[in-house]
Amino acid sequence: MTNPMLPRAGEMLHLRGNALEKGDPVALPLVQSSMYHLPGTWQGERSYGRVDNPTWEQLEHVLSHLEQAPCLSFPSGMAAIAAALFATVRAGARLLIPSDGYYVTRRLSDRFLANLGVEVVERPTTAFDRGGFDGFDVVFLESPSNPGLDMVDLADVAKQVRAAGGVTIADNTTLTPLGQRPLDLGIDVVVSSDTKSMGGHSDALMGHVATRNEKILEAVKEWRTFSGCIPGPQEAWLLHRGIETLDVRFDRMCSSAQIIAERLVDHPEVQKVRYPGLQGDPAHMLAVQQTHRFGFLISLTLASAEKADSFINSCPLLRPATSFGGVHSSAERRARWGDDVAPGFVRLSVGCEPVEELWAAMDAALG
Ligand SMILES: *Cc1c(COP(=O)(O)O)cnc(C)c1O
Repeated sequence: MTNPMLPRAGEMLHLRGNALEKGDPVALPLVQSSMYHLPGTWQGERSYGRVDNPTWEQLEHVLSHLEQAPCLSFPSGMAAIAAALFATVRAGARLLIPSDGYYVTRRLSDRFLANLGVEVVERPTTAFDRGGFDGFDVVFLESPSNPGLDMVDLADVAKQVRAAGGVTIADNTTLTPLGQRPLDLGIDVVVSSDTKSMGGHSDALMGHVATRNEKILEAVKEWRTFSGCIPGPQEAWLLHRGIETLDVRFDRMCSSAQIIAERLVDHPEVQKVRYPGLQGDPAHMLAVQQTHRFGFLISLTLASAEKADSFINSCPLLRPATSFGGVHSSAERRARWGDDVAPGFVRLSVGCEPVEELWAAMDAALG
């Protein structure tokens, strides 16, 4: 595991406070304004609500501390992914994306980038370890993949793609910067859906792009300003508030997930469990090498769609819902969306409930 001291979550909580003047509010003000007071010649001040907003700036300050890199916030994870892709591909470019990653990234590429002359190639996450990056301008990665939880060696892929002249983008939604640090492993651009555990309360959609590459950062910022794909100040404020407890929530969620995954392995109703923290898991060695935490997502397979639905719908401490990463544990049967998984395959997102209470409810619902 890489340096567990980074990023300093304690320091993060005081970033704003340490820059305050006497009498300033300790909590982040929510600024709703499309206009700024701007007499005379413009000298780089905030100009217009599509370009700048003080609440975004504070959010991005915290995100940048977490990522140890400049960050730009977006109104959803897909908005961040679209910005990163539109900032890096051009007509004639070849884009490699995982065939088993987040479905909408593939849809966006097929439906819109392909029309603009981008060649989109798909490959399963586990096949990224076999190299073959020559001729790709952009390589998009998701590790662990969602919902299969396969992992790739990010440092190795980043090195190979860079040597071949390409750019890497990693979707780090499932592990957050506290669980995995792709930029430190050599990845060029990180994208994240902050709708999930970063926000953590299932009350706002948000996303961000992080990169230490100045040219890409500039292009992502221009994309945001010109496309108008900007976050609302209220959502930025909610995400900022959520991030203040990320460290505690993520710690609880990952610790509980480890305990629950180990118990699920021994449960007679459960046919298969995937969790990177399990000794025998195909992703375990890589997870030990490149992540800080094994995450809060568990994939489990029950005997049938009926058994899976009954487990999800009868457990009072599980929200039957798509999406994940909230304080409330949630689960869903992924085959209902056409994922290439068994009918009884369940993606479980472990929340912040006390683990013994959660396990007792899950065990009863499984039985
Ligand atoms: C949810 C998710 C997204 C999309 O995020 P939105 O905030 O819903 O737009 C992208 N990637 C992954 C891995 C996700 O889980």
